[in-house]
Amino acid sequence: MSYKLVILGAGESGTGAALLAAAKGLPVFVSDAGPIAARYKTELSNADIPFEENGHSEGLIMQAEEVVKSPGIPDKAPLVKKLHEAGIPVISELEFAYRFTRAKFIAITGSNGKTTTTLLTYHLMKEAGRKTGLAGNVGFSLARQVIADEADWYVLEISSFQLDGMFSFKADIAVLLNITPDHLDRYDYKFENYIASKFRITQNQSPADTFITWADSTLISNYLAKHKPQAKSLYFSFGNENQDAASGQRPHETNHAAYLSNGSLIFPAEAKTGFELHTNDLPLRGPHNNLNVMAAVLAVKAAGLSDVEISAALPSFRNAPHRLEDIATINGVRYVNDSKATNVDSVKYALGSFTEPLVLIAGGKDKGNDYTEIEQAVSKQVKALVCMGLDNSPLIKAFGNRVPVIKETGSATEAVQAAAALAAPGDVVLLSPACASFDLFKNYEDRGDQFRSAVLAMKAGILSAEPEINQALNPAKP
Ligand code: ADP
Repeated sequence: MSYKLVILGAGESGTGAALLAAAKGLPVFVSDAGPIAARYKTELSNADIPFEENGHSEGLIMQAEEVVKSPGIPDKAPLVKKLHEAGIPVISELEFAYRFTRAKFIAITGSNGKTTTTLLTYHLMKEAGRKTGLAGNVGFSLARQVIADEADWYVLEISSFQLDGMFSFKADIAVLLNITPDHLDRYDYKFENYIASKFRITQNQSPADTFITWADSTLISNYLAKHKPQAKSLYFSFGNENQDAASGQRPHETNHAAYLSNGSLIFPAEAKTGFELHTNDLPLRGPHNNLNVMAAVLAVKAAGLSDVEISAALPSFRNAPHRLEDIATINGVRYVNDSKATNVDSVKYALGSFTEPLVLIAGGKDKGNDYTEIEQAVSKQVKALVCMGLDNSPLIKAFGNRVPVIKETGSATEAVQAAAALAAPGDVVLLSPACASFDLFKNYEDRGDQFRSAVLAMKAGILSAEPEINQALNPAKP
């Protein structure tokens, strides 16, 4: 038996692609190098889809006409290399699902901020009553949703790994939030390969489509100077009134479709209707989130939402956990969980989101971090650093001379106890690690969950601040 279509990897996207293929009558076979989760095996069996786990039947796979590969499998995996050499097309689940729907797409990529911007965009569309699906890296796979295909729009969070397997896909509205070095191990350690991958978000776009990106990124502007996008381009920006004054332009005379001015997000194309959003009224805080909100609002405006619909829907948005998530205030100290901040750039924006003195909990598996970018902000804002990792030497080396107090801990509970002892009323305890989590935790969610539990235990009076630090800070009077 040979199969037209083979699916490598049976996670949410692979299983969704298999179910869609079966629904469309395509003979399909699913192969996973590791074990397949029980719920996916049940779904595949129920749909009479043949599958294998814990290994690949290479002979069978090499006879496929086309292969859908999970974004988790790198191109340098031996089997994928063989498929490429044999000229068998290897595509992503999004590319496959795209063939079976007439819905329109808002596709969002970037190195940071994808999930937040995607969830906000989806929320605005849903609240405004548009029939919209959420897919890509978040929620259910696009392929699974396309079986019933009830949505008029899909909002997709797309990683560069997925973009690499997308060829005929076209976004009606494409959003590129930012580009900073990440995942270079998958791009032959060449930043330019990763940049090119991210710009595939604009592939196949025509002047009838929209491309939304960040005006303040020199890297993005340089790329666009050489590769002019076909789509109508809309830029969002931090804005700079001084710079505008220096150039003799008033902010609304720049060509930015959205910018920040005097604590408001301004959408000058809508000047007639006076559309602006005060950052204090937004459901997301911090400078990075101002960018994310501008991107999402421009995207839904391009999709036809009115100012009134947007203003009505914004206040009810709640971001996913682990992204500057407020946990509790205890004895006047606010505890914030930013466990998702696994690189230095994210921590930079997290620090920029607070004016209060900070007790920063950071550390974990250091991916060769360069901390120079946050040295100044840390010196200025961080009164104590609580290291939470197996090897804290990189953090201590970077900040030993900059932060007055450094304390090493080996678990979320210890870190919260130490931070509580170091913080005074009015301070913020911020978990924003700049590192991966897998030295002490399963993943960033586990790290954030353990932090949240420890904070809530302290709030409930089950856990107390570390006594030794308390004594050192408040020595008993003789
Ligand atoms: P992604 O899905 O791209 O990983 P998230 O929305 O999950 O992005 O945010 C991850 C982390 O990146 C957050 O903790 C936040 O600190 C940071 N971040 C979010 N948006 C931006 C942005 N526009 N620029 C830089 N950093 C950001």
